[in-house]
Amino acid sequence: MLWLAIGPFHAMENQVLVIRIKIPNSGAVDWTVHSGPQLLFRDVLDVIGQVLPEATTTAFEYEDEDGDRITVRSDEEMKAMLSYYYSTVMEQQVNGQLIEPLQIFPRACKPPGERNIHGLKVNTRAGPSQHSSPAVSDSLSSSSLKKSSAELKKILANGQMNEQDIRYRDTLGHGNGGTVYKAYHVPSGKILAVKVILLDITLELQKQIMSELEILYKCDSSYIIGFYGAFFVENRISICTEFMDGGSLDVYRKIPEHVLGRIAVAVVKGLTYLWSLKILHRDVKPSNMLVNTRGQVKLCDFGVSTQLVNSIAKTYVGTNAYMAPERISGEQYGIHSDVWSLGISFMELALGRFPYPQIQKNQGSLMPLQLLQCIVDEHAKTAKRKAST
Ligand code: ATP
Ligand code: MG
Repeated sequence: MLWLAIGPFHAMENQVLVIRIKIPNSGAVDWTVHSGPQLLFRDVLDVIGQVLPEATTTAFEYEDEDGDRITVRSDEEMKAMLSYYYSTVMEQQVNGQLIEPLQIFPRACKPPGERNIHGLKVNTRAGPSQHSSPAVSDSLSSSSLKKSSAELKKILANGQMNEQDIRYRDTLGHGNGGTVYKAYHVPSGKILAVKVILLDITLELQKQIMSELEILYKCDSSYIIGFYGAFFVENRISICTEFMDGGSLDVYRKIPEHVLGRIAVAVVKGLTYLWSLKILHRDVKPSNMLVNTRGQVKLCDFGVSTQLVNSIAKTYVGTNAYMAPERISGEQYGIHSDVWSLGISFMELALGRFPYPQIQKNQGSLMPLQLLQCIVDEHAKTAKRKAST
């Protein structure tokens, strides 16, 4: 009865875990893991990558007691799977049955050759369990959403995302690098957000950007903005994404703590997801956190294409007030720099003002470098103080 007191998960900690990776149409590979409960989602993807080197696997599934497939895309979902598996093992032990390995089914993306020309993709998942509800209510039924995104997927899968099919409506906002429009996609009858950026670059660079944007195929998270496609017309790129009817968090001023807490969970999950794909966001700030009336919070404008980030930086010179000190000083950028920007953003949202009183952000978030020196200096002073204590 001891396991009842400490819980099945802990009682199993020292046991060897066998994960059976099912290979589509050709059997399975067994993987023995010695520290099952500590296993991370990324570890499993790494091993799947070795077993299926040809495919790009971004998630996997397991079966519950009814044979229904459940998708795993994060450490949290991994924990839920392991906890479910260990409870079935416990049952098998109590009944004196043979312990079955944990079977998982890799979910692979299509290889590049099979994709449509613009890299179109729609996030069709609308499961309520993955949504946080910060301040807004669910106004659409899930069946109508499923239907509409399936229709959109069908249309977009034919590679038809182009300028002719798009009717620009309102301007949603101007950023430092472009303008975002609310637009109507004629073939599907759906509303999109289209970011248009003027870029005077060579055809070669345009091609490189398009191929770098391909990684957006891999992004399949309810905390990341859905990507429909991108195209160049003359010297401007249009990036089509899901429209978020609540806009971005920068306009909400001071957000109450209980709401902000839920938003923070979604944003951290979005960032963790990007980091698990080895993508750094590089532009974490309230205007890149979007909300909708279904209570979802999603990240946008992450630096998936190095060439696009560089081209924008060359055209629109400036320094961002949310940048980490090491970035302002031109040092190496890492996950910790995203975390800095996350902290500054949430302080701003909690306080209702930018946390550095010296910095007034009246005209967008780009700042002269001298003004941002205080971020670097204050950090250095704190670091010095810490080192001397
Ligand atoms: P930067 O150019 O530095 O990223 P920014 O984020 O303010 O600054 P844009 O990314 O061009 O600028 O976005 C402008 C505005 O458009 C945002 O502040 C946001 O309110 C709105 N917006 C952007 N994407 C969407 C979207 N998918 N759905 C709804 N509104 C959006
Ligand atoms: Mg933005």
